[in-house]
Amino acid sequence: MHNQRIDYHVHPNYSIDASPATIEDYCRKALALELTEICFCTHVELDPERKEKFVILNGQKWSVYNLDWLDNYFTEIWQAQEELKNSVLKIKAGVEIGYCPGVENYIERIVNDYPFDFVLGAIHCLDHISISSQKESPYYFRSRSTETVREEYFTVLMEAVKTGFFDCIAHIDLYRRYGSQFLGPKAFTLHRGVIEPILAEMSRRGMGVEINTSSRRRGLKEFHPTKEILELAVKSGVEVFTVGSDAHSLEHLGSGIEEALTLLKEMSASNYVFSQRKPIPYPIASNSLFY
Ligand SMILES: [Zn+2]
Ligand SMILES: [Zn+2]
Repeated sequence: MHNQRIDYHVHPNYSIDASPATIEDYCRKALALELTEICFCTHVELDPERKEKFVILNGQKWSVYNLDWLDNYFTEIWQAQEELKNSVLKIKAGVEIGYCPGVENYIERIVNDYPFDFVLGAIHCLDHISISSQKESPYYFRSRSTETVREEYFTVLMEAVKTGFFDCIAHIDLYRRYGSQFLGPKAFTLHRGVIEPILAEMSRRGMGVEINTSSRRRGLKEFHPTKEILELAVKSGVEVFTVGSDAHSLEHLGSGIEEALTLLKEMSASNYVFSQRKPIPYPIASNSLFY
Protein backbone atom coordinates (compact mmCIF):
# COMPACT_ATOMS: atom_id res chain seq x y z
CA MET A 1 0.00 0.00 0.00
CA HIS A 2 1.48 3.31 -1.05
CA ASN A 3 1.42 6.28 1.17
CA GLN A 4 -1.29 8.59 -0.09
CA ARG A 5 0.37 11.73 -1.28
CA ILE A 6 -1.15 14.69 -2.94
CA ASP A 7 -0.10 18.18 -3.99
CA TYR A 8 -2.78 20.83 -4.11
CA HIS A 9 -0.79 23.84 -5.27
CA VAL A 10 1.18 23.45 -8.48
CA HIS A 11 2.16 26.14 -11.03
CA PRO A 12 2.62 24.93 -14.59
CA ASN A 13 4.10 27.05 -17.39
CA TYR A 14 1.18 29.49 -17.66
CA SER A 15 2.69 31.86 -15.08
CA ILE A 16 5.47 34.30 -15.79
CA ASP A 17 7.25 33.20 -12.61
CA ALA A 18 7.03 29.46 -13.33
CA SER A 19 9.52 27.19 -15.10
CA PRO A 20 8.70 25.91 -18.62
CA ALA A 21 7.43 22.57 -17.20
CA THR A 22 4.05 21.74 -18.71
CA ILE A 23 0.94 20.24 -17.17
CA GLU A 24 1.87 16.91 -18.72
CA ASP A 25 5.44 17.15 -17.37
CA TYR A 26 4.06 17.65 -13.85
CA CYS A 27 1.66 14.72 -14.20
CA ARG A 28 4.50 12.42 -15.33
CA LYS A 29 6.61 13.57 -12.40
CA ALA A 30 3.65 13.09 -10.04
CA LEU A 31 3.34 9.49 -11.21
CA ALA A 32 7.05 8.93 -10.69
CA LEU A 33 6.68 10.29 -7.15
CA GLU A 34 3.64 8.04 -6.63
CA LEU A 35 1.36 10.96 -5.91
CA THR A 36 -2.32 10.05 -6.02
CA GLU A 37 -3.74 13.50 -6.68
CA ILE A 38 -2.45 16.77 -8.07
CA CYS A 39 -4.22 20.11 -8.43
CA PHE A 40 -2.91 22.78 -10.79
CA CYS A 41 -3.38 26.28 -9.40
CA THR A 42 -2.09 28.66 -12.01
CA HIS A 43 -1.74 32.34 -11.06
CA VAL A 44 -4.36 34.94 -11.91
CA GLU A 45 -3.25 38.45 -10.92
CA LEU A 46 -5.63 41.17 -12.04
CA ASP A 47 -4.50 44.41 -10.39
CA PRO A 48 -4.75 46.96 -13.24
CA GLU A 49 -2.22 49.23 -11.53
CA ARG A 50 0.56 46.68 -11.79
CA LYS A 51 2.90 46.32 -14.75
CA GLU A 52 2.84 42.55 -15.09
CA LYS A 53 -0.66 41.58 -16.14
CA PHE A 54 0.34 38.68 -18.29
CA VAL A 55 0.17 34.95 -18.38
CA ILE A 56 2.23 32.77 -20.69
CA LEU A 57 0.38 31.05 -23.50
CA ASN A 58 2.36 28.87 -25.91
CA GLY A 59 5.56 30.57 -24.79
CA GLN A 60 4.25 34.10 -25.42
CA LYS A 61 3.02 36.83 -23.07
CA TRP A 62 -0.76 37.02 -23.12
CA SER A 63 -2.98 39.55 -21.36
CA VAL A 64 -4.54 37.96 -18.27
CA TYR A 65 -7.76 39.86 -19.06
CA ASN A 66 -8.22 38.05 -22.37
CA LEU A 67 -9.63 34.92 -20.80
CA ASP A 68 -9.12 32.75 -23.89
CA TRP A 69 -5.94 31.49 -22.25
CA LEU A 70 -8.09 29.64 -19.74
CA ASP A 71 -9.62 27.56 -22.54
CA ASN A 72 -6.14 26.30 -23.34
CA TYR A 73 -5.42 25.65 -19.69
CA PHE A 74 -8.53 23.52 -19.29
CA THR A 75 -7.99 21.69 -22.57
CA GLU A 76 -4.48 20.77 -21.47
CA ILE A 77 -5.71 19.53 -18.09
CA TRP A 78 -8.50 17.49 -19.72
CA GLN A 79 -5.99 15.95 -22.14
CA ALA A 80 -3.77 14.92 -19.24
CA GLN A 81 -6.80 13.45 -17.44
CA GLU A 82 -7.73 11.47 -20.54
CA GLU A 83 -4.20 10.24 -21.15
CA LEU A 84 -3.73 9.10 -17.55
CA LYS A 85 -7.25 7.92 -16.81
CA ASN A 86 -6.03 4.39 -16.13
CA SER A 87 -3.32 5.49 -13.73
CA VAL A 88 -3.59 6.07 -9.97
CA LEU A 89 -3.22 9.82 -10.44
CA LYS A 90 -6.21 12.13 -10.21
CA ILE A 91 -5.71 15.49 -11.89
CA LYS A 92 -7.68 18.56 -10.84
CA ALA A 93 -8.16 22.00 -12.36
CA GLY A 94 -7.55 24.79 -9.89
CA VAL A 95 -6.49 28.40 -9.85
CA GLU A 96 -4.71 30.75 -7.44
CA ILE A 97 -6.30 34.17 -7.63
CA GLY A 98 -4.48 37.11 -6.11
CA TYR A 99 -7.11 39.25 -4.46
CA CYS A 100 -6.94 43.01 -4.42
CA PRO A 101 -9.82 45.40 -3.92
CA GLY A 102 -11.43 46.57 -7.16
CA VAL A 103 -11.08 43.45 -9.32
CA GLU A 104 -14.12 41.61 -7.96
CA ASN A 105 -15.98 41.70 -11.30
CA TYR A 106 -13.16 39.92 -13.09
CA ILE A 107 -12.80 37.33 -10.36
CA GLU A 108 -16.52 36.70 -10.40
CA ARG A 109 -16.46 36.05 -14.13
CA ILE A 110 -13.49 33.73 -13.88
CA VAL A 111 -14.88 31.60 -11.07
CA ASN A 112 -18.38 31.48 -12.54
CA ASP A 113 -17.54 30.89 -16.20
CA TYR A 114 -14.92 28.16 -15.83
CA PRO A 115 -15.38 24.68 -14.32
CA PHE A 116 -12.69 24.82 -11.67
CA ASP A 117 -12.39 22.08 -9.10
CA PHE A 118 -10.61 24.33 -6.63
CA VAL A 119 -10.22 28.09 -6.22
CA LEU A 120 -7.41 29.29 -3.98
CA GLY A 121 -7.40 32.90 -2.86
CA ALA A 122 -4.21 34.71 -1.94
CA ILE A 123 -2.98 38.14 -0.91
CA HIS A 124 0.18 38.64 -2.96
CA CYS A 125 0.11 42.43 -3.24
CA LEU A 126 -0.54 45.27 -0.85
CA ASP A 127 -0.81 48.81 -2.12
CA HIS A 128 -0.02 47.38 -5.59
CA ILE A 129 3.39 46.10 -4.43
CA SER A 130 4.16 42.38 -4.46
CA ILE A 131 4.98 41.13 -0.96
CA SER A 132 5.64 37.66 -2.37
CA SER A 133 8.56 38.78 -4.53
CA GLN A 134 12.04 38.93 -3.07
CA LYS A 135 12.97 41.84 -5.32
CA GLU A 136 9.85 43.90 -4.86
CA SER A 137 8.79 43.25 -1.26
CA PRO A 138 11.43 45.53 0.36
CA TYR A 139 9.69 48.50 -1.32
CA TYR A 140 6.62 47.59 0.67
CA PHE A 141 8.10 46.63 4.03
CA ARG A 142 10.89 49.25 4.20
CA SER A 143 8.58 52.21 4.40
CA ARG A 144 5.85 50.83 6.67
CA SER A 145 5.53 50.31 10.39
CA THR A 146 4.64 46.91 11.79
CA GLU A 147 1.25 48.31 12.73
CA THR A 148 0.57 49.47 9.16
CA VAL A 149 1.57 46.10 7.70
CA ARG A 150 -0.74 44.39 10.14
CA GLU A 151 -3.62 46.73 9.40
CA GLU A 152 -3.21 46.54 5.61
CA TYR A 153 -2.63 42.80 5.29
CA PHE A 154 -5.44 41.64 7.52
CA THR A 155 -7.94 44.21 6.20
CA VAL A 156 -7.44 42.96 2.64
CA LEU A 157 -7.51 39.35 3.86
CA MET A 158 -10.88 39.87 5.56
CA GLU A 159 -12.22 41.52 2.38
CA ALA A 160 -11.01 38.57 0.32
CA VAL A 161 -12.73 36.11 2.65
CA LYS A 162 -15.98 38.09 2.57
CA THR A 163 -16.14 38.11 -1.24
CA GLY A 164 -17.00 34.42 -0.96
CA PHE A 165 -15.09 33.68 -4.18
CA PHE A 166 -12.54 31.33 -2.68
CA ASP A 167 -12.60 27.73 -1.46
CA CYS A 168 -9.44 28.08 0.54
CA ILE A 169 -6.84 30.71 1.45
CA ALA A 170 -3.26 30.05 0.34
CA HIS A 171 -0.29 30.81 2.61
CA ILE A 172 -2.38 32.89 5.01
CA ASP A 173 0.71 34.38 6.72
CA LEU A 174 2.60 35.22 3.54
CA TYR A 175 3.94 38.47 5.04
CA ARG A 176 6.42 36.27 6.94
CA ARG A 177 8.11 35.17 3.69
CA TYR A 178 10.06 38.37 3.10
CA GLY A 179 8.70 40.57 5.87
CA SER A 180 10.50 38.83 8.72
CA GLN A 181 13.74 40.72 8.15
CA PHE A 182 11.91 44.06 8.36
CA LEU A 183 9.36 43.22 11.04
CA GLY A 184 11.74 41.21 13.23
CA PRO A 185 10.25 38.80 15.75
CA LYS A 186 6.93 40.66 15.45
CA ALA A 187 6.40 38.86 12.14
CA PHE A 188 5.55 35.79 14.18
CA THR A 189 3.01 37.49 16.42
CA LEU A 190 1.47 39.94 13.93
CA HIS A 191 -1.65 37.81 13.60
CA ARG A 192 -2.51 37.76 17.28
CA GLY A 193 -5.82 39.42 18.00
CA VAL A 194 -6.60 40.14 14.38
CA ILE A 195 -6.64 36.77 12.61
CA GLU A 196 -9.18 35.19 14.98
CA PRO A 197 -12.27 36.98 13.58
CA ILE A 198 -11.06 36.21 10.05
CA LEU A 199 -10.70 32.51 10.85
CA ALA A 200 -14.15 32.57 12.46
CA GLU A 201 -15.59 34.09 9.27
CA MET A 202 -13.81 31.43 7.21
CA SER A 203 -15.19 28.71 9.43
CA ARG A 204 -18.71 30.14 9.08
CA ARG A 205 -18.34 30.02 5.31
CA GLY A 206 -16.78 26.55 5.24
CA MET A 207 -13.58 27.96 3.75
CA GLY A 208 -10.31 26.11 4.04
CA VAL A 209 -6.80 26.96 5.17
CA GLU A 210 -3.88 25.75 3.09
CA ILE A 211 -0.65 24.40 4.49
CA ASN A 212 1.90 25.72 2.02
CA THR A 213 5.32 24.08 2.27
CA SER A 214 7.23 26.60 0.10
CA SER A 215 8.38 28.55 3.17
CA ARG A 216 10.91 25.79 3.87
CA ARG A 217 12.58 26.35 0.54
CA ARG A 218 12.96 30.01 1.46
CA GLY A 219 14.69 29.39 4.75
CA LEU A 220 11.74 29.72 7.11
CA LYS A 221 11.49 27.11 9.83
CA GLU A 222 7.73 26.61 9.71
CA PHE A 223 5.25 26.15 6.92
CA HIS A 224 2.70 28.78 5.94
CA PRO A 225 0.94 29.18 8.25
CA THR A 226 2.77 28.62 11.52
CA LYS A 227 1.58 25.94 13.89
CA GLU A 228 0.22 28.66 16.16
CA ILE A 229 -2.07 29.93 13.39
CA LEU A 230 -3.09 26.40 12.42
CA GLU A 231 -4.10 25.76 16.00
CA LEU A 232 -6.13 28.98 16.03
CA ALA A 233 -7.82 27.86 12.81
CA VAL A 234 -8.81 24.54 14.36
CA LYS A 235 -10.00 26.35 17.48
CA SER A 236 -12.05 28.75 15.33
CA GLY A 237 -13.86 25.81 13.79
CA VAL A 238 -12.08 25.66 10.41
CA GLU A 239 -12.46 22.09 9.21
CA VAL A 240 -11.05 22.13 5.70
CA PHE A 241 -7.29 22.00 5.22
CA THR A 242 -5.35 21.43 2.03
CA VAL A 243 -1.64 20.84 1.49
CA GLY A 244 0.45 22.21 -1.36
CA SER A 245 4.07 22.65 -2.33
CA ASP A 246 3.51 25.79 -4.43
CA ALA A 247 5.92 24.19 -6.92
CA HIS A 248 6.96 26.53 -9.73
CA SER A 249 9.35 23.88 -11.10
CA LEU A 250 9.36 20.08 -11.30
CA GLU A 251 11.95 19.62 -8.58
CA HIS A 252 9.61 21.06 -5.94
CA LEU A 253 6.58 18.94 -6.74
CA GLY A 254 5.44 17.14 -3.59
CA SER A 255 8.10 18.70 -1.39
CA GLY A 256 7.24 18.83 2.30
CA ILE A 257 3.82 17.29 1.76
CA GLU A 258 4.31 14.26 4.00
CA GLU A 259 5.41 16.44 6.86
CA ALA A 260 2.44 18.77 6.34
CA LEU A 261 0.06 15.79 6.42
CA THR A 262 1.71 14.54 9.59
CA LEU A 263 1.24 17.96 11.15
CA LEU A 264 -2.47 17.89 10.32
CA LYS A 265 -2.73 14.46 11.81
CA GLU A 266 -1.02 15.57 15.01
CA MET A 267 -3.59 18.35 15.31
CA SER A 268 -6.47 15.95 14.61
CA ALA A 269 -7.30 18.10 11.59
CA SER A 270 -8.38 16.70 8.25
CA ASN A 271 -6.87 16.97 4.83
CA TYR A 272 -9.28 17.69 1.99
CA VAL A 273 -9.30 17.49 -1.78
CA PHE A 274 -11.79 19.26 -4.04
CA SER A 275 -14.00 18.26 -6.91
CA GLN A 276 -16.14 20.86 -8.70
CA ARG A 277 -15.58 23.26 -5.80
CA LYS A 278 -16.80 20.76 -3.20
CA PRO A 279 -14.49 19.74 -0.36
CA ILE A 280 -14.03 16.00 0.11
CA PRO A 281 -12.21 14.60 3.14
CA TYR A 282 -9.10 12.76 2.06
CA PRO A 283 -8.01 10.65 4.98
CA ILE A 284 -4.33 10.41 5.60
CA ALA A 285 -3.31 6.78 5.18
CA SER A 286 -2.58 5.12 8.46
CA ASN A 287 -1.37 1.80 7.09
CA SER A 288 1.66 3.16 5.31
CA LEU A 289 5.27 3.28 6.39
CA PHE A 290 5.08 6.94 7.19
CA TYR A 291 2.33 7.10 9.78
ZN1 LIG B 1 0.77 32.38 -3.76
ZN1 LIG C 1 1.24 29.70 -5.71
